[in-house]
Amino acid sequence: MIAAGAIDHGALERNIDEVHERVHLAARESGRSAEAITIVAVSKTFPRTLVDEAYALGLSSFGENRVQEAKGKYGGPLPSDLRLHMIGSLQSNKAKAAIGLFDRIESVDRMSLVEALEHAATRVDTLVSVLLQVNLGREPRKSGCFPEQALELIDALIGADHLRVDGLMGIAPLLPNAHDTRPYFRELRLLREDICRERPDVDLSVLSMGMSGDFEAAIAEGATHVRIGSAIFGAR
Ligand SMILES: *Cc1c(COP(=O)(O)O)cnc(C)c1O
Repeated sequence: MIAAGAIDHGALERNIDEVHERVHLAARESGRSAEAITIVAVSKTFPRTLVDEAYALGLSSFGENRVQEAKGKYGGPLPSDLRLHMIGSLQSNKAKAAIGLFDRIESVDRMSLVEALEHAATRVDTLVSVLLQVNLGREPRKSGCFPEQALELIDALIGADHLRVDGLMGIAPLLPNAHDTRPYFRELRLLREDICRERPDVDLSVLSMGMSGDFEAAIAEGATHVRIGSAIFGAR
């Protein structure tokens, strides 16, 4: 067993090649272009040195799930095209720190957080890209709003001058057979279609769904962003 952070350069390169291949294959099988799919490399628990190696190997979007950890890892100067995404549940009192650090906050799931982010973004007069996170499996201990709350939250985001909602994010329940996650990803795609019908002026082009264990199913259902940690960096 390889300890977190102990993966060597060769293994990292092989993992990245393999993930690219799987993304291409999954895209081709559903008649999509792999160009339309962005890999967000989830670097939580892994050191900055591995991030730098992954960046040198061509990845430029990274995901973290804790503000404090991300601050330590990404606080210094970054390559100008490196994009950092917040993918973990966010406390309202960390809104200010989060907007200073992340290029996109994927985990907006409640009214109080919309308000805290808008307040913090207004104070520094910046426009923040966000996604609305939906709890696809209605799992009690998971974050994300329920689908029936989505439209109200989208309306609040549309009304927030310093937030720009770019799409939806979801996590499928962990199932023994990854193929069985497809209906959950389909639900997110259909929810986006519903919202776009109701609110034709909002551009929800991003569907962030799929992780190491289930990203092929998510791509088959239209994922534009897949969040991949262990398949790239190794076991956590
Ligand atoms: C950790 C995490 C991932 C990546 O998980 P892997 O199974 O390691 O690919 C993706 N999305 C979220 C929200 C996560 O917290």
